[in-house]
Amino acid sequence: MFTWLRNRWQRTGMTAYLSHPDCLKHNMGVGHPECPERLTAIRDQLMAAQLFDFLDEVEAPEVTREQLARVHSPGYVDYLESCAPSVGTFRLDPDTAMSPGTLPAARRAAGAVVRAVDLVLGGAAPNAFCAVRPPGHHAESARSMGFCFFNNVAVGAAHALAQHRLERVAIVDFDVHHGNGTEEIFKDDPRVLMVSTFQHPFYPYSGDTPLGPNMCNVPLKAGSKGDAFRAAVEAHWLPALDAFRPQMLFVSAGFDAHREDDMGSLGLVEADYEWVTRQLAALAARHCQGRIVSVLEGGYELSALARSVVAHLRVLSEA
Ligand SMILES: [Zn+2]
Repeated sequence: MFTWLRNRWQRTGMTAYLSHPDCLKHNMGVGHPECPERLTAIRDQLMAAQLFDFLDEVEAPEVTREQLARVHSPGYVDYLESCAPSVGTFRLDPDTAMSPGTLPAARRAAGAVVRAVDLVLGGAAPNAFCAVRPPGHHAESARSMGFCFFNNVAVGAAHALAQHRLERVAIVDFDVHHGNGTEEIFKDDPRVLMVSTFQHPFYPYSGDTPLGPNMCNVPLKAGSKGDAFRAAVEAHWLPALDAFRPQMLFVSAGFDAHREDDMGSLGLVEADYEWVTRQLAALAARHCQGRIVSVLEGGYELSALARSVVAHLRVLSEA
């Protein structure tokens, strides 16, 4: 009887799945948790789940300097280019190193989000997932850290604002680590609302005091499980997001809060990632024709990471 209401926004096309072989070429050394196998594990699990029948695979382009310059200082981009080794690795901090494949991977990772924005806002895809590395949410406007070089989700959000002239975009971050880079880039920007949960106190030891009124930061104590996470989402994220009425929703989708991931000490499981994705999909349907661009951040226990991405993508793709 009310199908016309449900169909007020008609979904067309399939979820875009953006990646690139260059994203496998960034290598920070044997035993580093942010390893190329993360992406192959995700692909394997998506194949086993037969989810590629519901995904439109898109090759990520390289980001341009102009697109990077919306969130990163030109001097920082020059600095990274000057550090890139032709052989071996160059260490930028104790956790973060460049290999010869790093910049090509980082350019594809940021370019994937830009392309995803274009596809979703152009109506070619209802939503998109960027299966990319290196991750981005710790990268600040002029500083690499925590396995991150370019802030991929920030580059995408800035593209939606500058190129597509959106007035309000929201960024949701459920990685176990606080997205300090995204916060630093968009603090006090009224066009951007960022909502996040993260283990605290924990690396990068930020987030407990929000840097601006557009930041909705919800620290979670070590040992918190899905019930605490869901309560935080319902009490803090959803009211803030509904009041903001975003025209597009970005997700910094880190899966290292999974209980099997010993990078952190939170206890989320696949059902929690499925639940939060459903909440976000419903929110996006209410405010922005379902437009979601989700970007891989952390997630280091390969099996848990891949199973969590499947749970996330089952909802986004409506498989
Ligand atoms: Zn993380």
